[in-house]
Amino acid sequence: MNRQALILQELQLAPLWVRRELLQTAADQPEETTALPAGTESGPGEEAQARHPLPAVARAANKALAPLIAPHETARAPHVSVPIPPKPKTIEPPIQDNGRAAAIATMDWNTLQAAVAQCDACALCKTRQQTVFGVGNLQPDIVVVGEAPGEEEDRMGEPFVGRAGKLLDNMLAAIGEKRGERVYIANVLKCRPPSNRNPLPSEIALCAPYLQRQLELLAPKVILAAGRFAAQLLLDTEAPLSALRSKPQQWRGIPVVVTYHPAYLLRNLPDKSKSWNDLLRLQEILHSANHAKSGDIN
Ligand code: SF4
Repeated sequence: MNRQALILQELQLAPLWVRRELLQTAADQPEETTALPAGTESGPGEEAQARHPLPAVARAANKALAPLIAPHETARAPHVSVPIPPKPKTIEPPIQDNGRAAAIATMDWNTLQAAVAQCDACALCKTRQQTVFGVGNLQPDIVVVGEAPGEEEDRMGEPFVGRAGKLLDNMLAAIGEKRGERVYIANVLKCRPPSNRNPLPSEIALCAPYLQRQLELLAPKVILAAGRFAAQLLLDTEAPLSALRSKPQQWRGIPVVVTYHPAYLLRNLPDKSKSWNDLLRLQEILHSANHAKSGDIN
């Protein structure tokens, strides 16, 4: 196939319909080379055509296409860049606080629990079966903070049930701890997001005062932040979980250990070993806190 035919094929303009008499004329003439010298990039403009004349059929086709193709476009397929529109952001309404967070910050435990049970501050109140406040010892050494209730939790009213809950229980058992003994478990959100989708920033902002008050009243020795949403809220950052793990962190003076959410670990088994290291750090912090306390007494 000659060069012009290749070009036409590249442009998806081949095969061309050419008048028979032109084909005959071309057949009567000897084939001429159209090969360009090595390193030559120029296309078949006037000068290039003079150096490398095209066969008669190609010349006829070129002439027929001339009104359709600009001279500089005949060498290669035209490059058309289509701008990609930016992804639209979810627009959320501004949060109206009206002193709500300040009121929550002064509540006692029972008032707080009742406030959560009747809360309609965000749209999740319309889709939840019930609120999930938390479970465990009210004078805990450890508070585990997860993300939000899932389907089972929404049905049972308790955080971390189902497969992720079982894994959390096993993780705690591995460091000699047990749900309900020296441990309290809560979530960032107290209501289930539909289809277990990620919490929206506005939902987190509206629900966070409840968790903050819980932590103030519980005053644990250490907090285990399980997953990105818990870690980012408590540490007031947008940094990824990988940047927050393995580093000493604090929430209002209480040590925070950041680890993966058990639901994530169920899908990413190799990260279980990293989570184990996080739990060992938590255990160390707890031992140091207990040691310091017994030292105080002695
Ligand atoms: S998620 Fe939190 S803020 Fe939203 S309705 Fe439930 S308790 Fe209220």
